[in-house]
Amino acid sequence: MVCRYFRAGLSAMGRCKIWHPVIVAALGLGLSGCASFPPLGEIDLIAKATRIHQRVIVLDSHVDIPPNYATPDADPGIKGDMQVDLPKMVEGGLDAVFFIVFVAQTERTPENYQLAQAQAMNKFNAIHRMTDELYPDRIELARTARDVRRIHKSGKRVALIGVENGYVIGKNLELVKHYYDLGARYMSLTHNGHNDLADSSAIRDELGDAEIEHGGVSELGERVIEEMNRLGMMVDVAHGSKATVLEAAALSKAPIISSHHAVKHFVDIPRNLDDEEMIAIKATGGVVQIIAFDSYLKPVHPDKTKAFSALMAQYGVDGPAAYNALSEVDRQSIKNQRARFDEQWPPASVQDFVDHIDYAVDLIGVDHVGIVSDFGGGGGIAGWRDASETLNVTIELVRRGYSKQDIGKIWSGNLLRVMKDVERIARKLQAEKS
Ligand SMILES: [Zn+2]
Repeated sequence: MVCRYFRAGLSAMGRCKIWHPVIVAALGLGLSGCASFPPLGEIDLIAKATRIHQRVIVLDSHVDIPPNYATPDADPGIKGDMQVDLPKMVEGGLDAVFFIVFVAQTERTPENYQLAQAQAMNKFNAIHRMTDELYPDRIELARTARDVRRIHKSGKRVALIGVENGYVIGKNLELVKHYYDLGARYMSLTHNGHNDLADSSAIRDELGDAEIEHGGVSELGERVIEEMNRLGMMVDVAHGSKATVLEAAALSKAPIISSHHAVKHFVDIPRNLDDEEMIAIKATGGVVQIIAFDSYLKPVHPDKTKAFSALMAQYGVDGPAAYNALSEVDRQSIKNQRARFDEQWPPASVQDFVDHIDYAVDLIGVDHVGIVSDFGGGGGIAGWRDASETLNVTIELVRRGYSKQDIGKIWSGNLLRVMKDVERIARKLQAEKS
């Protein structure tokens, strides 16, 4: 159970220009929700973490958006149901977010390629609607690492765009530039299920996936990586098979990233990275963004999985679309039931999450590790359930002895360094060609 005290620190942070331990202490005194009052050392630690949190750029590299994003039904300008919106970003000191143009893998037919591209455009349009039409005074789209720093200095939130699933290009290499021009600054080669670019870590029997289709990156995938290098778009290996990760690392002329991955050492599932993969990403100069996703961080008790499946079956839910079609009452009762499951079988905590960060830092160094929530796409853990609770991660990093400099690198410095390197290499490649 995470003390409400942390939440108080977060909301106060949005109001206080100068943070001081006395203010933290005063806040704590005013709260009755804590089972026990934090000891003095803890107060100092929270105050220190808050100061660091305010001074570094806090960037989340993967936040999914619904298809109706930036409409009155999913308005990022008001504090609503979504795990990330502008008020929660301010409250939690979350400065920058890669909003994701995600398209699910479907059977590869000409109609489905078209549909995937239309779905991608819908999400690009929604992100642009947020930054250009609805809230240009509160959030701005960054196209370069330099933009991120400039916008952050101006006091606005920073939006960036990442594409999840290279399926959105179908077999049309020219679409990579089209998406780049719309602002996409990374693209994952795959999602769940193989596609024309590469093999996925998740084999989808219902799509007719063989265990291995390309043996890593396909010939088209190689050309896509080349084009991404030329344009200055980061190659993302999240959701790739091990062979895909290793091949993409070997093929790319610029550093690569995993935009959202956890560590196999703790949970041995195909979706998580092993040491060899993390070392390969580091060798490119890249970064592994560690994900706050419950079942990737800590094995889920089998009884919890069973109980959850039974609950979904009871409401006839077989995917996000069916869930979204439920009435508000049904959705609320599912949420209540899930909260009861979480009480019985606690989800991963911020401590579990930072264990993964520690492991990755020990293995590949503090210059190659970052942080990501996957909010809106299944992410969220006890203590970091939405953007308003983002400070809790910094508190835990401070508790583990990370310096301000290291925390700055982990929250954004490393990813922005990669982004800058990718931009520089693109300029070089373009100059060589002309
Ligand atoms: Zn994902």
